Amino acid sequence: MADEIAGLRHAIHREPEIGLDLPKTQAKVLAALDGLPLEISTGRALSSVTAVLRGGRPGPVVLLRGDMDALPVTEETQLPYASTVPGVMHACGHDTHTAMLAGAARLLSARQAELPGTVIFMFQPGEEGYAGARLMIDEGVLDAAGERPAAAYALHVSSQKLSCGTFSTRPGTMLAAADRIMVTVHGRGGHASMPHRAADPIPVACEMVTALQTLVTRKFDVFDPVVITVGSFHAGTTDNVIPDEARFLATTRSFSRESRSALAELVPRLIGDIARGHGLTAEAIYAGEYPVTVNDAAEAGFAAETIAAVFGPERSELAEFPITGAEDFSFVLEQVPGAFVMLGACPPGTEPLTAPTNHSAMATFDDAALADGTALYAELALRRLARG
Ligand SMILES: [Zn+2]
Ligand SMILES: [Zn+2]
Repeated sequence: MADEIAGLRHAIHREPEIGLDLPKTQAKVLAALDGLPLEISTGRALSSVTAVLRGGRPGPVVLLRGDMDALPVTEETQLPYASTVPGVMHACGHDTHTAMLAGAARLLSARQAELPGTVIFMFQPGEEGYAGARLMIDEGVLDAAGERPAAAYALHVSSQKLSCGTFSTRPGTMLAAADRIMVTVHGRGGHASMPHRAADPIPVACEMVTALQTLVTRKFDVFDPVVITVGSFHAGTTDNVIPDEARFLATTRSFSRESRSALAELVPRLIGDIARGHGLTAEAIYAGEYPVTVNDAAEAGFAAETIAAVFGPERSELAEFPITGAEDFSFVLEQVPGAFVMLGACPPGTEPLTAPTNHSAMATFDDAALADGTALYAELALRRLARG
């Protein structure tokens, strides 16, 4: 099936779509599932596909998730199947997840009669900042089989760090929580030569940016890390005009409930206090995005055992640290015990430690990982159902 899976992956890769509305990707998934003994439903608020496979024998429900969306990146890989859509690229490898999950649906469908339980295939749009998983939960994906899943698993490819074909997971915290801070500093514009007659928002906003870094080191335990990065900063039009306002956006990453709620409290307070200290005002909106992705210890152990049994122990790596990236699979794992597993897909000839990262315009994911990822999805479901 490897060629078939790669073919589907390339077709999705050529026509990437962003966000919650992925009609072309959805059509390709539906075509790939056509003829299989699945109960298929599609989303209302998003172009999701939920497919339920009822085995011939009684047993529990297992959910497998693959995300389908691309990123606003202009592809520079020169691959033969590179994106044909300017400014849009499958730079996070979600095209591989979709193709592997469709492949697993085909594999497991062939064993429907002997399957002791039910599998839900969750094809999810909008992972990259649109909380598509939460919307699918709202629309009932966790109840699609009529009973809650006993376990849920997601795979994610990595273009770097892991060598191709190596799987990695860990018990407990797997990925960070990600939140967004939107700040507007309100000053009063004027002539740049007479700043005392204006209220300059730029130096005040700059002070906020550096103070946020001090906040990280003075208010948080080093053993419960926090990241704050200001990724967007805008003010003014030219050198001799003081603008009315300055705006910046920041992302925060945290790994515990305590740190996450401390950020939500301390960041807006610090912003407001700095503005007030200079006689200005500021708005700081702290918007919650994705919670911490927490692997169930038993399910992560089961996933690692399955990887070792199917591919050999050298292919199963225990991740030493969580990842500072975030995932909306966290919303599923808040309700269902499960595990998020990384799969190395670094192409041959590239060094895992220096290869372009996921989200890079140069990120490449080797087709050689597809068959193994498909097999793992299927084996996780088969073996977990068999355990009851
Ligand atoms: Zn991503
Ligand atoms: Zn991703």
